[in-house]
Amino acid sequence: MAYLCEGASFLNPRAYALMHREHHAYSDTAKDPHSPHFFKDIFQMMNYTIKTFGDYLKITRNTEARFKGNYPEWPFIDRIGSSLLSRLLFGAAYTSFYILFATHWWMFLLLPIHFLMGPIHGAIVNWCGHKYGYTNFDNKDKSKNTTPFDFLMLGELFQNNHHKHPNSANFGKRWFEIDPVYPIMRLMHWMRIIKLRKAF
Ligand SMILES: [Zn+2]
Repeated sequence: MAYLCEGASFLNPRAYALMHREHHAYSDTAKDPHSPHFFKDIFQMMNYTIKTFGDYLKITRNTEARFKGNYPEWPFIDRIGSSLLSRLLFGAAYTSFYILFATHWWMFLLLPIHFLMGPIHGAIVNWCGHKYGYTNFDNKDKSKNTTPFDFLMLGELFQNNHHKHPNSANFGKRWFEIDPVYPIMRLMHWMRIIKLRKAF
């Protein structure tokens, strides 16, 4: 399911979990794999993030034992999902959709955003979410809630809330902070597609 939805932007769950746990443990310190405070610009940060992720994917990067385990490992899906062929086929599928349904030529300019949806979303969240905005909690890092109306980034820019409550599926904590994905997760939980844990 995650593979089909992520498509061309598929992220191997093990590699992602390892990198993300490292980010939480070392948020905005020199050991954080993608803190905006240790890179000159967003491109340098993404370069390093992609390299770190690639190293975790190839298992050439080792990490602390406490970060390991508790992630799904489906060798077949993991292998095809990360392959260039899979990314190109999804790209071709997105292009076909545009050929069938686009009503103006300029709509095709949106295609590159679809090819690179995951990395673009990651770059915006990792850069802005630890740099711009306000805080609800003192997390001893630079995590921020960038905007109270975080519809475009689907709730992920509530980084300050997320670092305070990393196990909470709802990233919105105050009445005006709406995490639009949370109701969808509740629905999927109700339909028994996913299982939400109780947040502590
Ligand atoms: Zn963060």
